[in-house]
Amino acid sequence: MAELLDSSVRLHNDSGIRARWLVLNGEAEFFTVTKRLHHRLHGGVDEVGSLGEVERKLYETTTRRQAEEVANWVGVDDICVLHDPQTLGLAPHLAARGLRVAWRCHIGTSVASGIVDETWQFLRPYLRTPEVCGFSVAEYAPPQLRQEDGKVLVLRPSIDPASRKNRPLAAPAVHELLRAIGLEPPTDGRPTRNTRGARVLQDDHLPPDAPMVIQVSRWDPLKDMAGVLEGFATYVAPVRADAHLVLAGPDPADIPDDPEGAQILHRLREAWQGLPPSTRRRVHVVTLSLTDTDTNAQVVNALQQRADVVLQKSLREGFGLTVTEAMWKGKAIVASAVGGIPAQIRDGIEGLLIRNPHDFQTFGRAVVQLLEDPALRNKMGEAARRRCASQFLIDREFLDYCTLYRRILSGHRIMEQP
Ligand code: UDP
Repeated sequence: MAELLDSSVRLHNDSGIRARWLVLNGEAEFFTVTKRLHHRLHGGVDEVGSLGEVERKLYETTTRRQAEEVANWVGVDDICVLHDPQTLGLAPHLAARGLRVAWRCHIGTSVASGIVDETWQFLRPYLRTPEVCGFSVAEYAPPQLRQEDGKVLVLRPSIDPASRKNRPLAAPAVHELLRAIGLEPPTDGRPTRNTRGARVLQDDHLPPDAPMVIQVSRWDPLKDMAGVLEGFATYVAPVRADAHLVLAGPDPADIPDDPEGAQILHRLREAWQGLPPSTRRRVHVVTLSLTDTDTNAQVVNALQQRADVVLQKSLREGFGLTVTEAMWKGKAIVASAVGGIPAQIRDGIEGLLIRNPHDFQTFGRAVVQLLEDPALRNKMGEAARRRCASQFLIDREFLDYCTLYRRILSGHRIMEQP
């Protein structure tokens, strides 16, 4: 998010719209509640139970306090775009101070369910205030909002092709970065001094010329890194004895609003320990520091550029920017047909989609198919890059923001250009 907003805010300012972004602060208990809201809006199971008065109080106390903070940074004529359920509770407080408020929601599901309804009920008091609500996928909008004329806007995320994450990197630079984190072997045979704050769990280095598949994700159960490991170990490794898997994600200590990350990573490490040695040798678990976001972006870029096939085997997904990033890099992709992924990839054209993310066999077969067919990989990679260039870059998103602002400034009536 930070990375996206950085580019977006720069583009706003360059275009004459004065903009800045602020980050919400909160206690661990607040983020535990908002993480539950996140899973629930994706239609996931909430093991803690229902949302009651305790959660309401925690949510309201923090968002009210944060709205007071935000008020120090904005003027009454400003438009404030809030992102995701964490910040939605600020909306009534900001509007009461005369601000125009929009809300942007990056998460959701197209599948109706009791848990999703209950979560929208919890958020209902705050949903009335934003004048426009932007959703990454149209079906994510709750039914009550869809009935309000002009209130819902489809606002797909995008990537910045000029950012460190997405700039072209020459092959030597890719390998140099991967050596620097200790993933690939040092050229002179001496032990690598990790200069990039990354940790790599591996029995042996990734050979620079080995076929490599990768998933880059937060350590979140919905990203299903454990499923990727299992699918690879069971259906890819035995068929392709040369293929390596890299699972890369952020150091959980660097993400205070994602309290489950450490536990998920711990379990994944245990699963890695339990692999047969011949498979374990070909699986590399990479944890990247986020303290220096430029370095993180560069290393993620190198990992994605190095990959032969990029995976996103999510059980649920908001939009899936890792898919967008792989598309821009012209990579062949195997991904679950969930959330915003089918809005990006058409099955068989820009990549291979797995209808049932729990179907490890189909997942494994798709990975093997792409590994064995370089011509198909190239064809899909080129199609992916073309589609990304036309639909998922930051200039298109900026124009969508302009539509949102015009709706707000014209009281929902879209002003046509003369
Ligand atoms: N990402 C990163 N470092 C990591 C893991 C992920 O920079 O160690 C980035 C990734 O490149 C992408 C974003 O985090 O830009 C994840 O966005 P996505 O929409 O795929 O998933 P989310 O985490 O928002 O659910």
